[in-house]
Amino acid sequence: MKVVIIGGVAAGPKAGSRINRLCGDAEVTIVEKGEFLSYAGCGLPYYISGVVKEQRELMSTPVGTVRDCVYFQDVKNVRVLNRTEATAIDREARTVTVVSREGIEQKLPYDKLVLATGAQSVIPPIKGVELENVFNLKDIEDAERIKTMLGDKKALNAVIVGGGLIGVEVAEAFQEMGCRITVIEFQLQILSLVDPEIAALAEKHFEANGVKIKTGTKVMEFKGETKVSSVVTDKGEFPADIVVMAVGVRPATGLAVAAGLKIGPTRAIAVNAQMQTSDPDIFAVGDCAEKYHLLTGQPCYVPLGSTANKEGRVAANAICGVHDAFPGVLGSAICKIFDYSVACTGLGEGAARAAGFDVVTCLSPAPDKPHFMPTAKLLYLKLIADRKTRKILGAQATGPGVADRRIDVVAVALAAGMTVDQVAHLDLTYAPPFSPAVDNLLTAVNILRNKMDGYLSGVTPAELHAMYEAQKEFTLLDLRSPTEYQQMRIEGSTHIPLGTLRQRVGELSREKPIVAYCKMSLRGYEGALILKNAGFKDVTVMDGGLLMWPGKLIKG
Ligand SMILES: Cc1cc2nc3c(=O)[nH]c(=O)nc-3n(C[C@H](O)[C@H](O)[C@H](O)COP(=O)(O)OP(=O)(O)OC[C@H]3O[C@@H](n4cnc5c(N)ncnc54)[C@H](O)[C@@H]3O)c2cc1C
Repeated sequence: MKVVIIGGVAAGPKAGSRINRLCGDAEVTIVEKGEFLSYAGCGLPYYISGVVKEQRELMSTPVGTVRDCVYFQDVKNVRVLNRTEATAIDREARTVTVVSREGIEQKLPYDKLVLATGAQSVIPPIKGVELENVFNLKDIEDAERIKTMLGDKKALNAVIVGGGLIGVEVAEAFQEMGCRITVIEFQLQILSLVDPEIAALAEKHFEANGVKIKTGTKVMEFKGETKVSSVVTDKGEFPADIVVMAVGVRPATGLAVAAGLKIGPTRAIAVNAQMQTSDPDIFAVGDCAEKYHLLTGQPCYVPLGSTANKEGRVAANAICGVHDAFPGVLGSAICKIFDYSVACTGLGEGAARAAGFDVVTCLSPAPDKPHFMPTAKLLYLKLIADRKTRKILGAQATGPGVADRRIDVVAVALAAGMTVDQVAHLDLTYAPPFSPAVDNLLTAVNILRNKMDGYLSGVTPAELHAMYEAQKEFTLLDLRSPTEYQQMRIEGSTHIPLGTLRQRVGELSREKPIVAYCKMSLRGYEGALILKNAGFKDVTVMDGGLLMWPGKLIKG
């Protein structure tokens, strides 16, 4: 069996290696137009910042062997033609035309063909985008160009256009290099893969670390003679010695389109669960292939290295006659912002509503270990569930606390179609150095259950803030201690510490709605129950408490 694979970074080499393991006598050829093979594109920001010292570390096995053409031939029995571009597919003749950088053309026959052509950076037609020192970050060559430009220069003005996953990772890398950074984002928040409350916390953390975030801002022009010197936006001009464009990627489908393969609604190559395209002998994997969302069943485009590797393996299994099926994605993703992580899985609140679910959410900020452990760090967790089926729909987290563990548990729960009640009883590990006795996730899921079962009526900080700004009639009841209240409070709030509430209920008006809260709203919840038992009818709790309050606070 002759197998040709086009694309040699993540999905392609994964498919090639697996085919060789399953069918030792298959003749596998990888065609890659770039120089480098099988490297960790995800590590590029860390290579720029110097966390990863050597380029070769990005393309080495764990024992330090570089995965180059010789390695693939000798160890994997896979022939690699790098610096060689595939220019056409002839489905009738079952050949791929390839041209080397030296201009040598040849036709490679195939029985099975795998397209792993990845994605291309989107480069919007903005005036001046071709100026020197305006970069993309897609591959090792881009990273080398950026590293060379930065050299050991200090205090450069760096502008990152786009506040998605790659933009924020580049911002962090540049900050480590001593640059003054501005991130310009067209949308009203960075990291559109998470909901606004979580993104707002990430933005605050960037600002606290000296990175300027300009959301709702459109780039109009890059100015400069030969090199870029400033970025003109609809909200002002920003000095720039270096610009990185990180406004997204689109699937590289040129070959597939020319070959008449079916393209899906997301403009990626349409595939089935075996990663087979509309031609059963041609497979598409990784960033060039369409995905399906596990929860909605709808096509979606989530280009990630984690998915590319799985899809490469599934295609290899199908090619070698081993039954396997790729069920779809949840959009699970994570990134690092200094000592914070931002992670998510499943549907966000907006997407869940748009998909027609009866959405219930909760915000639960809490230490990720018992408060008495010096290593305890704050973790902000948001959960999204469906009231009708009680199924969990998504989770998002940020903060310095451990986020990945909680989000990964939810990813498993989503894949298993679990309800909030099932998640609440999961037997998770516990010891003080690792987590609280009732893990953050289980606490959050219990908040959701309390809401669904009518034991807790919540209002989101954003809704409450809107009521506050509109000067609606209600009592903002702060149940924290006098010291906490003295340190910071919402203007106009009523302060009654939780321990004295039972004796002081008479001080509260029964005519007005009451919104109870504390730092994280655990005391807020207990206070609301005391008031309900005392006959108060309209009592809600601010989700997440003061830690999630988006408005101004009086300090001191
Ligand atoms: C800076 C950065 C950070 C990232 N961080 C993460 C992360 O933290 N987590 C995560 O999951 N993902 C991350 N990603 C995404 C991840 O790198 C990609 O999803 C993954 O590389 C996709 O693999 P792929 O093999 O499908 O495509 P690619 O990696 O794009 O490789 C496709 C290859 O095909 C070659 N090719 C295309 N057309 C032809 C042709 N006609 N002939 C020959 N060769 C061709 C290209 O040269 C390219 O080398 C990051 C990406 C970047 C750029």
